Amino acid sequence: MDFDLTSEQSMIRKEVRRFAQKEIAPQAEEMERTGEYPYEIIKKMAGLGLMGIPFPEAYGGMGGSWVAMHLCIEEVSRVDGALGGLLDVTTSVVGQEIAVFGTEKQKKKWLVPIAQGKEIGAFGLTEPNSGSDAGALQTTAELKGGEWVLNGTKQFITNIGLDCASMIIVAARVKGGDNADTISTFIVPKNAPGFRLGERYRKIAWHSSATHEVVLSDCRVPKENLLGDPQRGFAQHLAVLETGRISIAAIAVGVAQACLDEALKHARDRKQFGRPIFDFQAIQFKLADMAVSIELARNQYLKAAWLKDQGRPHAFEASAAKLYASEMAEKVASDALEIHGGYGLMEEYPVARYYKGVKILQIVEGTSEVQRLIIGRILASQAKKQGF
Ligand SMILES: Cc1cc2nc3c(=O)[nH]c(=O)nc-3n(C[C@H](O)[C@H](O)[C@H](O)COP(=O)(O)OP(=O)(O)OC[C@H]3O[C@@H](n4cnc5c(N)ncnc54)[C@H](O)[C@@H]3O)c2cc1C
Repeated sequence: MDFDLTSEQSMIRKEVRRFAQKEIAPQAEEMERTGEYPYEIIKKMAGLGLMGIPFPEAYGGMGGSWVAMHLCIEEVSRVDGALGGLLDVTTSVVGQEIAVFGTEKQKKKWLVPIAQGKEIGAFGLTEPNSGSDAGALQTTAELKGGEWVLNGTKQFITNIGLDCASMIIVAARVKGGDNADTISTFIVPKNAPGFRLGERYRKIAWHSSATHEVVLSDCRVPKENLLGDPQRGFAQHLAVLETGRISIAAIAVGVAQACLDEALKHARDRKQFGRPIFDFQAIQFKLADMAVSIELARNQYLKAAWLKDQGRPHAFEASAAKLYASEMAEKVASDALEIHGGYGLMEEYPVARYYKGVKILQIVEGTSEVQRLIIGRILASQAKKQGF
């Protein structure tokens, strides 16, 4: 067993930590306050190759590992969780879906600019009437005159509102010859006829993350924009969400680490009863529990990413990482805020921003209940194999 990172992984983590602290941290508060989309930072992240770390060089990537990708997501999220979310969707989910299931032509056309960070991808699964029950989606696709015609509404879509977002991968229901439905996936360019960018959501946090509704009204895309196996579109969409769960866990660890950093700093500076509050054992115990739970969550997401790099199954590890890390982050953010006392509720203290943002992590890419359902199903199948 070897817990060491490779020299490339250590190097890229160091470089991204330096970049995040120097280039993103000074602007993070302002971006959250104004809700402006961070185009300059996206350009700089693209310049470092962050959107293409796990993809082959032939497709504009760095030929790196999923472990390296997730170390970078953690470092970016340590200063701005919303930017971690951008990386999760464009790379772990959308880029990967094209890399794994796309044709050579689709990879050249869509994956290369996404891996280079010149274009950003969006993922369309959720609809007004299908969230956790994703299989109940109602968007339809029909082949007419050599084109796919899509109708439906996707909601809460990350990244799609960015000017540099070029497309969304949409899951839609297709009627077969026997009238039975299958779910297939389609690459829908933002400039396709019938594509409309809907309402920008007013969220309680992550204001600089572009979350919009997408409306498809007789939206026409070329026949070759069908992605992967038409019979297995839903399975494809869910398969990449497994990696998305590792990414959400890495974001949660980054945000929780930022909370611990701030709480530790504050506890050393703030004096009450004639001494730094750090000297009180009650405060030290809180900080110790925070440090332990962050480290356990980090180990879990790294294990899931490592298994992925080995091409080994990791459904349990990814769901466990997402469930544990997102719940851990909420507790750590709450404790960090408490250590700040009244200052923790003041907008100018970074911990207030972290606290407001952590709840998102328990909801996206499958809520905590959905992770428990997935883990429950894995346990049931293990029990069956063992004859329980
Ligand atoms: C900021 C943000 C960004 C997002 N980005 C994207 C995106 O890019 N693409 C995309 O497709 N979607 C995106 N989503 C949608 C997100 O994935 C869904 O919100 C999430 O899957 C939950 O679905 P829902 O909101 O419909 O909640 P619901 O499914 O209605 O769930 C409501 C509650 O019921 C619980 N529940 C539901 N079913 C069960 C059950 N069987 N057992 C126990 N409890 C259950 C849930 O856990 C939850 O607590 C985003 C959401 C947000 C908030």
